[in-house]
Amino acid sequence: MTNKYYMPTRVIIGKDCITKHSELFLTLGKKALIVTGAQSAKQNGSEKDVKTALEAGGIPYLVFDKVMSNPTIACVYEGAALAKEQGVDFIIAIGGGSPMDAGKAIALLAAQDIEEENLFSGNYENRVLPMALVPTTAGTGSEVTQYSILTNAKAQTKTSIASDLLFPTVTFLDAKYTEQLGVVTTINTAIDALSHAVEGMLSTRASIVSDALAVASIRTIMKCVPDMLQALQSSEFVFNQKQREQLLQASLMAGMVIAQTGTTAVHAMGYSLTYFKDIDHGRANGLLLGVYLKLVEKVEPELAGRILAAMNFSEAEQLLELLNRLLGEKEKISSEEIKQYCKLAIQTKNIANSVVQPTEEDMRTMLTLSFTI
Ligand code: NAP
Ligand code: ZN
Repeated sequence: MTNKYYMPTRVIIGKDCITKHSELFLTLGKKALIVTGAQSAKQNGSEKDVKTALEAGGIPYLVFDKVMSNPTIACVYEGAALAKEQGVDFIIAIGGGSPMDAGKAIALLAAQDIEEENLFSGNYENRVLPMALVPTTAGTGSEVTQYSILTNAKAQTKTSIASDLLFPTVTFLDAKYTEQLGVVTTINTAIDALSHAVEGMLSTRASIVSDALAVASIRTIMKCVPDMLQALQSSEFVFNQKQREQLLQASLMAGMVIAQTGTTAVHAMGYSLTYFKDIDHGRANGLLLGVYLKLVEKVEPELAGRILAAMNFSEAEQLLELLNRLLGEKEKISSEEIKQYCKLAIQTKNIANSVVQPTEEDMRTMLTLSFTI
């Protein structure tokens, strides 16, 4: 089998890296659209730093701050219409995975006309606006992937636009923006990154390079786990700067992994939990990761063993127990709902991408197990 590694995004990491490297914005274009969520970028200083850098270069900008969690198709068409109308020639997306994904779709839709029914077709002209991405959560890795994941009401799930055109031109990682992230969001997003790293190793497209990045990401996240458990116990607990940096770097590495491998059965099932039950993306993956690794352990023990070794675990049950502690009380789910979600998940390309492909019945068993323990 042939392996390849491709990740053309320039990555700048470090405190104040946006203002220290403001000249990079001059290479992107002459007028920027800042794409972000309603509040957090204004509160954590990231939007201010971007504006300062743009003003230093004399670059005019406008702000589209209407991106909601799990962005809709309508939202990205609205952002693209604004970009076109205002003659914007590059995009700066600031936020968690939602604004970053929306920014990537807006960059594509502002550069070419794509009908809604062809949005996920992968069939695009070779045109996109340059993009700078600023992650303010440590989980999705969207800053280095070629995916934009949108809520797709017609398909009743989340669907990704996947195209090399969507690799950002540059990404700025400054952990200071994640300092005010709440404990639950910190944990959910860290679990998302863990899930990316683990699923990367469970993908049919895993390679020596993606595995090396995945193991490094898993080890880094696991080092932060004792503090996550402590944060759940004590409202006084504050993650220190080093932990914030480590989580952001782990998320970056896990993003580099899924840019090569895609995600697998965990994300396939997790999308329904988000779409129908409004369960946060990272949490949805966390609810499934342990039970899926138990299945892998039975069918591909050597592969499961390599992943567990990176966590310093000897069996999947230990991961399941850890995730249960991190996730706390579970939501209620009916057997009818489980049936419906498995029918949807089995059709996704993420299942075909899994070394261990669960059957619909396997998935029903996993979901049932996850919500009853
Ligand atoms: P999110 O939906 O982007 O943000 C969740 C919440 O966190 C929002 O309320 C946001 O507020 C807030 N927030 C963001 N940064 C903050 C900060 N520094 N301090 C305090 N609050 C902050 O959550 P996410 O988990 O990062 O992203 C999930 C999305 O990413 C999903 O749509 C998922 O499908 C997608 N995803 C994409 C990829 C990819 O490769 N493209 C990979 C995995 C997941 P505001 O709304 O005010 O900003
Ligand atoms: Zn994810």
